[in-house]
Amino acid sequence: MKQHHSLPSNTRIDTHCHLFNKKVLSWKLLIDFVQSRVNRSRVNRYMKITNIDLIDCPSSTFNEIKRALNFLKIGMQPTSEDVYKTLVETEKGYAVVPLMFDLDYCVKGASADFQNEILAAYNRILADDRKELLQIKQGLDYLIDYSSSNNEDDILKEIDQLVQIIDTLLEPKRQTNEFGLDSLHKVAPFLDQENQLVDLQKKYPDTVFPFYAVDPRRKENYTLENGTYNLSPILNRLAINGGHFYGIKLYTPNGYSPADPMLMALYRYCEQHAIPITAHCSGGGFASFAKTVDIQGLIYRNSKIREHSGNITFKHYKVTDKKRVHEKAQMLNHPLIWEKVLEKYPNLTLNLAHFGCSEDTGEWSQHIIRLMKQYPNLYTDFSCVAEKATLNNMYKTYYSEAEPTIKKRFLYGSDFYLNMLFIDNMRQYICQFERIFSDAEMKEIAEINPRRFLALD
Ligand SMILES: [Zn+2]
Repeated sequence: MKQHHSLPSNTRIDTHCHLFNKKVLSWKLLIDFVQSRVNRSRVNRYMKITNIDLIDCPSSTFNEIKRALNFLKIGMQPTSEDVYKTLVETEKGYAVVPLMFDLDYCVKGASADFQNEILAAYNRILADDRKELLQIKQGLDYLIDYSSSNNEDDILKEIDQLVQIIDTLLEPKRQTNEFGLDSLHKVAPFLDQENQLVDLQKKYPDTVFPFYAVDPRRKENYTLENGTYNLSPILNRLAINGGHFYGIKLYTPNGYSPADPMLMALYRYCEQHAIPITAHCSGGGFASFAKTVDIQGLIYRNSKIREHSGNITFKHYKVTDKKRVHEKAQMLNHPLIWEKVLEKYPNLTLNLAHFGCSEDTGEWSQHIIRLMKQYPNLYTDFSCVAEKATLNNMYKTYYSEAEPTIKKRFLYGSDFYLNMLFIDNMRQYICQFERIFSDAEMKEIAEINPRRFLALD
């Protein structure tokens, strides 16, 4: 039996968001910050080459830094509940599906130089951004004067937090432990993340439906005896078994195959019990920082799906190597691998998230649509589509052209608060959807479809 909940049928559901707190964020935040700055300087360099005169355009740089700061401000909050409250300030009355992330296994096997590499990149970027950060700080100082003379305590508190974040950023870091990670991790971050989501779900049983992150390398989550997997540590966490999780989250570029034998055993259970699975499915996002990863199951290599068992050494593994994520996403996340999973479990309730958004082509999106035609419980979501033009294009090319049976399986998602790196605020994110999709279509993607996906009825 599902846990009791009484979510009114006309409630919007954000099917893809993240409520990581400070402890989970630390590395992630830093890497994101580093990556976003690195990408920017590459864009600038490209523009220089192509003679486009946008180089060092102050307002766009300024906006980017402001976004990064806003991102940090949200993510540096102490608890998942704080982050949840920030989200529902805008998504008022929405139910949410917070997805866990197994950061420990994302950084597992990274070289000893990994931390130093981040440190160096961080300091380099800091040197580049120093001027803009000081400018923002000056602006904030002015706001502090203004707000204190008007007794605006709330605003003052908020600005104060921002100034603190900037101050922390402005201090050059000399040692890796200066990021303050060691002291934060008193409880294992993964367990802490789980506990916080469980608490949140208990407090808001009608509106919070978390998904549990599974990585087949995390062996405390199952045992293998005589070739049989005992998955009870995972299954016991599911709401249908009295736990607090409504589905499973997979992030295969972290270093495993979608067809890992342990996952194949899990899919059997999920298919039988209509447990939804959300799998990150885009050419971007995160990926393992390891150079070599032991992989079991199907991979995509040289335009072919092949069985693999053992170590794979990747060409791109340095923190600042932009191809690092792409290489692992291609090999471990390609929709053609998921097709093999679906051939075996055709009724699996699976969401290939981000609509396969790949920077270059629409190839993954086309595969997903093709598979949605064949597999009745295959879904996709529009999470993290922060660019209005991209969302518009997805709408026109795929959504509005799709048959009703396919339309039933598109989901609204925000990817909050990771989407805050790409957009100024959540209101803007929702408005873009409301402008492109009609009221009836919004009702489908944000109410009816998510409810079916989550098996809430
Ligand atoms: Zn996400």
